[in-house]
Amino acid sequence: MALIVQKYGGTSVGSIERIQSVSERIISTQQQGHNVVVAVSAMAGETNRLMNLANQISEVPEPRELDMLLSAGEQVSIALLAMSLTQKGIKAISLTADQAGIQTNAVFNDATIEYIETDLITKWLNKGYVVIVAGFQGRDRIGNITTLGRGGSDTTAVALAAALNADECQIFTDVDGVYSSDPRFVSNTRRLKEVSFSDMHVLAKSGAKVLQEHSVTHAWNSSVTLRVLSSFDDGEGTLICENPKEVLAVTGLALKQDLFLVECEGISAKEQRELYKQYKVLDERCDCFQIVVPKATFLQLKLAFNTKIRNISSLSILTLVGDNVEGMAESACNQLMANSIDIYQYDIEPKSVSVIVNQADLQRAAEILHKTFVITEQSQDNNLMIAVS
Ligand code: ADP
Ligand code: ASP
Ligand code: MG
Repeated sequence: MALIVQKYGGTSVGSIERIQSVSERIISTQQQGHNVVVAVSAMAGETNRLMNLANQISEVPEPRELDMLLSAGEQVSIALLAMSLTQKGIKAISLTADQAGIQTNAVFNDATIEYIETDLITKWLNKGYVVIVAGFQGRDRIGNITTLGRGGSDTTAVALAAALNADECQIFTDVDGVYSSDPRFVSNTRRLKEVSFSDMHVLAKSGAKVLQEHSVTHAWNSSVTLRVLSSFDDGEGTLICENPKEVLAVTGLALKQDLFLVECEGISAKEQRELYKQYKVLDERCDCFQIVVPKATFLQLKLAFNTKIRNISSLSILTLVGDNVEGMAESACNQLMANSIDIYQYDIEPKSVSVIVNQADLQRAAEILHKTFVITEQSQDNNLMIAVS
């Protein structure tokens, strides 16, 4: 008998019909003789709906109260899933993160799990129950509700798998694995059978939201066997592991959208140093400089700096990821410029090359980079040969 931790994302539990289908999948795992712990996200669109309510009161809501509000979405889905399983004759219990003993630091909206007191989960497992834990939430040392950042249910699942010493952590989502780029945005992407923790970490950090970045680091540090699967179909998905069998020159292309180019003027040298530490700097004059920040950060900075900062344009970052990408920077930039795409900046780091372009050029730039460097005609031929041989 194995212990399996499964996580179901928002689309996977987006309706009562979907919740019924997820409970069938859980039952079939249990019928194979396994113990099952489940982490669940809020129903699709629910966290955004709650965020919109908060934003009608304030563009930058008070962080503690925001966590109180946003964590409510997961409480609905865990209860519905437990009801669905019980209705089908399966013993199931839902637990909030507080009840499940998930302790975090006190960083509201972006908390880190410090440890999980697993006694209660283990007690219910020993009684033969499926234990359903609210994803995304935690509690700090003095009992406040915290949340783990958007997409944080992935991290809940991995942390549960690590704390319970589970045999596998299965992340069920709306695509059947990790692809060479976002399959909803780029054409001719390919599912990867295996991806190394290190590549997956860079992909997630660079915007591939199929896994939250922290979930990958946590799995890597704790040697959790991590697999991404579809909750809509059966299939082997993608295994995230230390040493994948197939090593590609370029593993994938990650995309980060909705960034603002922000111009700052009249800010103190100390504040400027702080901003430089946290964000990409595009123009470094000391009186007036430009940084790239996510939209939500811009609203927070606006609150602090008021007229000293302004949003000049919307940008996106494309990142090629893999062991051999570092030498491709010049050629990537040339390809984009040959197609009249302006490049604001490019960066070379171990395992990654990233370029900053106008948001309006993102789609075209993504297609060009993916076709030229990731799934090239040559790599497709190689694949065909592997498939045939
Ligand atoms: P969930 O609600 O299940 O957590 P998410 O929306 O957070 O699902 O993540 C799944 C989505 O991630 C996919 O629908 C896809 O659009 C996006 N995505 C981005 N990059 C990739 C990638 N490289 N491989 C697969 N999916 C990706
Ligand atoms: N419900 C949260 C979000 O939408 C957490 C998650 O889905 O993982 O970000
Ligand atoms: Mg997600």
